[in-house]
Amino acid sequence: MSSLHIYNSLTRNKDLFEPLMPGVVSMYVCGPTVYGHSHLGHAKSYVSFDVVVRWLRHLGFKVRYVQNITDVGHLTDDADEGEDKIQRQASKEMVDPMEIAQAYTRSYFEDMDRLGVLRPNIAPTATGHIPEQIAIIERLIDKGHAYESNGNIYFSVESFPGYGKLSGRTDQAAVQSGGRVEQRSDKRSPSDFALWKRAEPGHIMKWPSPWGVGYPGWHVECSAMAMKYLGETIDIHGGGMENKFPHHDCEIAQAEAATGKPFVRFWMHNNMVTVDGVKMGKSLGNFITLKELFGTFDPMVIRFFILQSHYRSPLDFSNAAIKASQSGLEKLHETARRLLETRPGSGTLDVGSFVRKTEEALNDDFNTPVAISVIFEFAKALNGALDRNEGLSADAAAEAMAYLETFAGKVLGILRSREELEAGEAGDGGETLADVISVVLELRKDARARKDFAMSDAIRDLLLAKGIELKDTREGTTWTKKRG
Ligand SMILES: [Zn+2]
Repeated sequence: MSSLHIYNSLTRNKDLFEPLMPGVVSMYVCGPTVYGHSHLGHAKSYVSFDVVVRWLRHLGFKVRYVQNITDVGHLTDDADEGEDKIQRQASKEMVDPMEIAQAYTRSYFEDMDRLGVLRPNIAPTATGHIPEQIAIIERLIDKGHAYESNGNIYFSVESFPGYGKLSGRTDQAAVQSGGRVEQRSDKRSPSDFALWKRAEPGHIMKWPSPWGVGYPGWHVECSAMAMKYLGETIDIHGGGMENKFPHHDCEIAQAEAATGKPFVRFWMHNNMVTVDGVKMGKSLGNFITLKELFGTFDPMVIRFFILQSHYRSPLDFSNAAIKASQSGLEKLHETARRLLETRPGSGTLDVGSFVRKTEEALNDDFNTPVAISVIFEFAKALNGALDRNEGLSADAAAEAMAYLETFAGKVLGILRSREELEAGEAGDGGETLADVISVVLELRKDARARKDFAMSDAIRDLLLAKGIELKDTREGTTWTKKRG
């Protein structure tokens, strides 16, 4: 078998992957800031890293996958200014910031579960690791890499010559990018970044520290939690490419200045989502939450749609593109169902050559679009074999099913279980069902607008009796079909 190569953002090269400790992979991915429902951008990131974890496990590695939850201290402006995003949302919804953090953490995992994203082994929260963050900051102060100013602690970028090595930004560029908001700053240099911020009056999420009451900067939580659970040098660190600078360069600076050891061996960055060619963002008004999407599309279709492009390529969302994915996936499931129902014959199929090609694609920096195209070539060859009079021998059919269940199922997570296939879940008009339900939901919305809650509840209960569960959220009503 070919060996695994990963594009390393640090070396800007596809490097041969070997973990530091034979057989064991330590992996950290920056998790969500929990102040709103997850959107398609989150789905792309976490589905991509889910396939990374699944493929590493398939190769026989024991993977410890840590993904944090940022539930404090992430300001609206990355240059250490502005409001706390969670606190801002809390005052909007008139609840405690911790209620916001917990509600959207649950919402995040709910969405990821539906996308088939396996839970990380450890999902540490920033608020649960304040002492660890304080300890790193103390270490940095002791070593002369950080200093106190008016109850704020800053990392001195000048003290760490490797600063900016990941993004390739020079100190000068960093100075310029941070320069605009720095007139009244208490930093020694504009490119220095906050490790700890003094809590201003009215700031809710705050903790005592050796420097007074305050809260940690965003960057330091990842260094602290990654090192706590994975050690001082970790194999893989992932995140969105927009986080290369400043977030990941700051993580490197803090960790390496504190330990004197390389922090991360392989940096992986996924690309962003665009909508009809335009970058997706809350402020641009083209923002799609997953809960909204799940009202129209099966989560597995969304997962398949994401994996049809490479993680380092942008993903362009459009209804037409996702509908094309839907019919493609239904065809694959149709083929798998046909295989399950076929009577044993005498024909053969060269499954091995497809296995090798799929492995090669995934070993080539997790090239899921190529792996998917090989799986579809296989489905075509399989249908051809099933069309022939002699059919497929029982052995060949078992081998073909094992191929689909391994690569489309276990590794990519885009194949339904045997039970679901046999029950005819796939290809039986998932799209028609979505259309019908959207009509029913319109009627229910009308009923609610007329305050006819008896009708609205009756619709909900009748659908539930048929295995369709409705959920009323702030964004509208979503539905899920219970399986099994
Ligand atoms: Zn991070």
